[in-house]
Amino acid sequence: MKTRRNFLQAAGLSAVALSLPSFPGYAALSKSEPLSKNSQDRVLRVAIMGLGSYGTRVAEAMQDCKRAKLVGVISGTPSKVETWKSKYGIPDKNCYNYENFDAIKDNPDIDVVYVITPNALHKDQVIRVAKAGKHVICEKPMAVNAADGQAMVDACKAAGVFFLIGYRMHFEANTLEVVRMRKAGEFGEIKFFQGLSGFRIGDPTQWRLNPALSGGGAMMDIGIYSINGARYMTGEEPIWVTAQEVKTDPVKFKEGIDETITFQMGFPSGVIASCLSTYSMNNLDKFFLNGTQGFAEMQPSTGYGPIEGRTHKGPLGKPHVTHQTTQMDAMAAIILDGAQPEIPVDGEEGVKDMKIIDAIFEAVKTGKKVSLV
Ligand code: NAD
Repeated sequence: MKTRRNFLQAAGLSAVALSLPSFPGYAALSKSEPLSKNSQDRVLRVAIMGLGSYGTRVAEAMQDCKRAKLVGVISGTPSKVETWKSKYGIPDKNCYNYENFDAIKDNPDIDVVYVITPNALHKDQVIRVAKAGKHVICEKPMAVNAADGQAMVDACKAAGVFFLIGYRMHFEANTLEVVRMRKAGEFGEIKFFQGLSGFRIGDPTQWRLNPALSGGGAMMDIGIYSINGARYMTGEEPIWVTAQEVKTDPVKFKEGIDETITFQMGFPSGVIASCLSTYSMNNLDKFFLNGTQGFAEMQPSTGYGPIEGRTHKGPLGKPHVTHQTTQMDAMAAIILDGAQPEIPVDGEEGVKDMKIIDAIFEAVKTGKKVSLV
């Protein structure tokens, strides 16, 4: 019991009574996998959809999970399926492709599908999984705009399944320590947040630079970390945004693909955030939070880690654990036990970020301050 409590605390979770529903916004659990009194002994059985670079990272990290296990795959590439089958001991009956995966509804051995495909495919895939009665985890950005994100939330609610977004930083120990300090008032009144998120993108033919598959450029892919970070670091929701775009290479970064955007957000208390999202600069992974009585700075702040930083009280020294391992164990506790994350990871949380991205694109287009209320 002590071990379980320690795990919950480290991953930013709190236990709740097992008489659920308790997860915000969810009235029912999956019809296929009702909770039982013994749910804490259960392991979440996961199928990954999209066996690309991040799907591979998640699968490897899950090998160290205590409560989540990779048991199935959904892929359009038979050779990858063969490799994954032998590497992870996945049985034939748990392998699907993009045409036949609706049949997962008849598979009692899979609890949840983790969608890790190009952004523009998430909406239809998540809705199909929900209709098959399985819980869904979906990578960020959840969709290519807020309306699509809301449709996904609605479909999951209607199906009575959990819908979580792969916000791995929400379970990262140093991030949670800064959030704890902010909630405890250790920074005083928060005044300012700075988020810098970017990297130099390579191969011009990749889906990330194809608007039909990505839904946008750096903002969808990496700028979202500064948006999401501004929200959990300050603990407030922005009420307005302004934004400016700079494009130095209109061939590589064609119409619909943002290269660099600087943006500012205003929050109800008067906190302001100043952020940069880019596909043209390396070593941009930094958060800075300033309050009347202290500060926190993290660099790297959202990369795969170790996350490093310091506050006015000294270095942040929580040990590094592979983010996706912590995330998947924490998500198992959310889905199987109804544990409550310290920072939400539900579909509504994803929609909040998508609304801000929509507003940033509008601000770039119009040059005006865009209200979010
Ligand atoms: P990737 O290109 O490496 O993998 C994408 C996978 O989707 C491939 O296996 C590809 O075959 C498959 N796919 C299915 N249909 C496709 C189609 N029509 N066109 C192209 N590919 C198709 O990409 P990735 O880096 O794994 O990113 C996948 C998702 O994961 C994205 O939404 C991305 O934002 C997200 N991601 C999240 C993190 C994180 O830290 N949370 C990190 C990287 C990527």
